Amino acid sequence: MTTIASNLQAVRNMVTAAAIEAGRNPGEVMLLAVSKTFAAGMVREAYHAGQTCFAESYVQEALGKIAALQDLEIEWHYIGPVQSNKTRAIAENFAWVHSVDRLKVAERLSEQRPAHLPPLQVCLQVNISREKTKSGVLPNEASALAHATAKLPGLTLRGLMAVPAPSNDPVAQRRPFAQLRKLRDDLNRQGLELDTLSMGMSHDSPAAIAEGATIVRIGTAIFGARNYGAEK
Ligand SMILES: *Cc1c(COP(=O)(O)O)cnc(C)c1O
Repeated sequence: MTTIASNLQAVRNMVTAAAIEAGRNPGEVMLLAVSKTFAAGMVREAYHAGQTCFAESYVQEALGKIAALQDLEIEWHYIGPVQSNKTRAIAENFAWVHSVDRLKVAERLSEQRPAHLPPLQVCLQVNISREKTKSGVLPNEASALAHATAKLPGLTLRGLMAVPAPSNDPVAQRRPFAQLRKLRDDLNRQGLELDTLSMGMSHDSPAAIAEGATIVRIGTAIFGARNYGAEK
């Protein structure tokens, strides 16, 4: 087995073990491989090891990889900050966007989603730890944004995404994930139908799965450490 194939196997085993430990069905947790900064050849390798959903954070870099890998049946997810001038490229090239955090961006993605494609699947990114520098809608503003986004014809609002402040303590890691789940449950009580919690990365996925994650976004544990500067 290649390193990527064996890393993928180890990550799948981790996801399964965390789900069982939490009393959940491992089939409820989707593994999203975060390939930002890694070459198309590494994505191809992971694909041949059985991984079909990949996530990117930089539009220019992603477009090159999507073009290079058009012969594969990959489902592409966008998880980076969404700039207004990049919404068309995102709406045309991705199946999912996890990082919608304002109405203007949601409206542009909806308008620019090509009619021949199914609605763009979106999550709202929530600044769950209320960090000053972090993108994401504030928790108290999420309800208004969710209800407005859910009405847009080119989008299907699927759920919430968060990147909490990092912590190495598994107990502390669970708190913001529990808050995100509670927010999702509150929105569903208000009439929305959100089935997705996109939460958990290489260092905190077991905690996220324990709190109900349905998508974990994992890069480093599959592809190795990122070398920033190579992207874009
Ligand atoms: C890069 C990134 C990840 C993957 O993080 P790892 O620690 O490499 O697993 C997940 N989510 C988002 C939003 C990211 O930008």
